[in-house]
Amino acid sequence: MKTQHLNHCPACGSANFKRFGEVKDYYYSQEIFPIEECHNCGLRFTQDRPSAEHIGEYYDSGNYASHDSKNKTSLFLKIYAKAREWMLEHKYKLVKQFKPEWKKVLDYGTGEGFFVEFLRKKGLDAMGIEPSELARNNFKKRTGNNLYPSVENLPENIGFQAVTLWHVLEHIHELRPTMEKLVAKIEKKGIMVIAVPNQKSTDAIAFGNEWAAWDVPRHLYHWDDKSLSTFMASLGMEKIYTTHLPLDPFYIGMISARYKSLSTISGLMTGLKSYFHGSKTPAEGSTLLSIWMKTN
Ligand SMILES: [Zn+2]
Repeated sequence: MKTQHLNHCPACGSANFKRFGEVKDYYYSQEIFPIEECHNCGLRFTQDRPSAEHIGEYYDSGNYASHDSKNKTSLFLKIYAKAREWMLEHKYKLVKQFKPEWKKVLDYGTGEGFFVEFLRKKGLDAMGIEPSELARNNFKKRTGNNLYPSVENLPENIGFQAVTLWHVLEHIHELRPTMEKLVAKIEKKGIMVIAVPNQKSTDAIAFGNEWAAWDVPRHLYHWDDKSLSTFMASLGMEKIYTTHLPLDPFYIGMISARYKSLSTISGLMTGLKSYFHGSKTPAEGSTLLSIWMKTN
């Protein structure tokens, strides 16, 4: 099957959901996808989505920056690479303050594994899971090491002190089963770090249907603080911290402005407003970054 029609909310299983709207895939296919809203848990999700076997067809335009590093000549990709270096250090320090003793770490949906590589250089025992074969091969060429294609391929009795999902939760087809398996791999008092685009951010509201982080159909779910909290609590995870990611509102602002036929400066200004709002009210930041502890 090329597309999947969902009859139940992928987060809570409820059949009580309604059409919220329709959004266009500006980035690649120009196709329109419906968005549903669950009345039970509040999750918004992409309806009639490409199946896991076919979603790859929506990435193949050769410049989905997080998945493809073969063409680094453009100025954009040079800036992207610099920003990525800075973000790796930022993410490392952020997690370290909650888990100073962390050693065994799993980065789920690691792409080409830059975070895994960074953590290994810091002396951590980091592993990564990435379903894209192209991304796994690029990691192998760069580092000589391997990434795992799925949770099932991890060593059987392994446990982690931290599992990180940086802009990944919105891409997982088998949402609940995958998250249950990941939580099972976390040691008691271990943490899970989740970063997702935030439906309730200032930039999401400002750009409306042209907000770049809708990113349908690649983004299957459109989270906010409430829907994510309900989902994580149902997995037995307790929230210990919420913040935002400082560069994301500018990046999202620039792309959204292009989709809305506005100037880059205008996009950056909306990004700046969102940045300040997210600094004061992290639950409404452009990217919702939350840390969860496994209490039993
Ligand atoms: Zn739901």
